[in-house]
Amino acid sequence: MTILTPKAYDLVVVGAGIVGLACAYQAFKRGLKVAVLERNAKCVGASIRNFGFVTVTGQRPGDHWRRARESRDVWLEVAGNAGIPVLHRGLYLAAQRQEAKVVLEAFLQTEMAEQCRWLSAKEQRELLPFVKNMQAVLFSPLECRVESREAIGQLAHWLESACGVDFYWKTAVTSIDLPHVVTANGKVRTSYCIACPGHDLYSLFPNLQQQAGIRMSTLQMLRLVPAMPIKLPGAIMSDLSLVRYEGYSGLPQAQALLRRLQVEQPDHLKQGVHLIVVQSADGSLVVGDSHVYDDAEDPFASQARDELILQEFERVINCSGSKITERWVGTYASADDVVHCVSPIPGAAIGIVTGGTGASTAFAFARELVDTVLHSS
Ligand SMILES: Cc1cc2nc3c(=O)[nH]c(=O)nc-3n(C[C@H](O)[C@H](O)[C@H](O)COP(=O)(O)OP(=O)(O)OC[C@H]3O[C@@H](n4cnc5c(N)ncnc54)[C@H](O)[C@@H]3O)c2cc1C
Repeated sequence: MTILTPKAYDLVVVGAGIVGLACAYQAFKRGLKVAVLERNAKCVGASIRNFGFVTVTGQRPGDHWRRARESRDVWLEVAGNAGIPVLHRGLYLAAQRQEAKVVLEAFLQTEMAEQCRWLSAKEQRELLPFVKNMQAVLFSPLECRVESREAIGQLAHWLESACGVDFYWKTAVTSIDLPHVVTANGKVRTSYCIACPGHDLYSLFPNLQQQAGIRMSTLQMLRLVPAMPIKLPGAIMSDLSLVRYEGYSGLPQAQALLRRLQVEQPDHLKQGVHLIVVQSADGSLVVGDSHVYDDAEDPFASQARDELILQEFERVINCSGSKITERWVGTYASADDVVHCVSPIPGAAIGIVTGGTGASTAFAFARELVDTVLHSS
């Protein structure tokens, strides 16, 4: 078997999505010599297709919420060092129904609402003049957003240039046989390996999907150019998000909201549509999303689902005549457990965020993964 490089590493990471890059960063912080092997010429997976929205408040309570808090702090530190612009800080949860306001009132009583507060009527008018039918708006200062499609490449570049991480692009890993990781281009010597394959559960671990009870969640996303320029002060979410994100949907008060939405917006619920709106540096809006769950990813973007997303957008944002300039789909691995971390052989681990929250939680999860491999042999 050919040798890809004469170098020997402490840790080889498979996959240059956010989870793989976060592992490389956490290993670098521990002084390990790291290489990242990525089969594509650049990252094209879920990590560049998402909102870049680092969400803290809506996460599943407990460990995952703590992962999000920790990861948000690391994002801000890394973004500063890597020159990655943070485009938004904060989240505006715009309740349009009384039942949604009640959910947010209950959320405010939880530990996860630390630092969150209601916007005054004056603040609502000044900050969100384009938001319709506001019963109340809860502001969370904890969230931030980066432009993922650029940020992921910038992060990889910074890890290489400032942290000494070696990147091998166009290098598909075919097996892990420590002390080697075998690729289509030759083998690499390493003490440890963490595989972060995202939703590709077949190439390296053909039985993993069945064993772990993982399904595929395929999302549709839109980019809109508003007819009239608007300036978002932060990310915006609406009532539908309160029955999706577990930090809110797990509250008993969410049941009344769900019952009302089942009557008023059954198609949105059926297609897993809720609303996140964020803004890019050029003023365009990234708007989503819908969720289709199946054993395999859904290759087809449906016009009907786009229309449901647009309906919810127009229900909340007064911005008619916006032009759609991009549509795309993205897929993530989904399971009841929000993260999947196993050690198939001593010295190796597989790490997958199965809750659709990798942008928000990867840095903390990566710290756990590095611990797992270092203690697995
Ligand atoms: C449309 C959309 C919107 C989302 N919005 C958000 C959001 O706002 N906030 C949030 O927190 N999360 C969000 N998510 C979820 C988040 O994007 C994912 O959880 C995260 O990107 C997963 O990162 P990853 O590194 O595991 O996977 P990926 O980004 O898919 O990266 C996996 C990489 O591994 C590589 N790879 C796989 N197998 C091999 C192999 N054998 N050899 C070499 N390379 C290999 C792949 O080529 C790929 O580059 C969203 C997801 C989608 C799809």
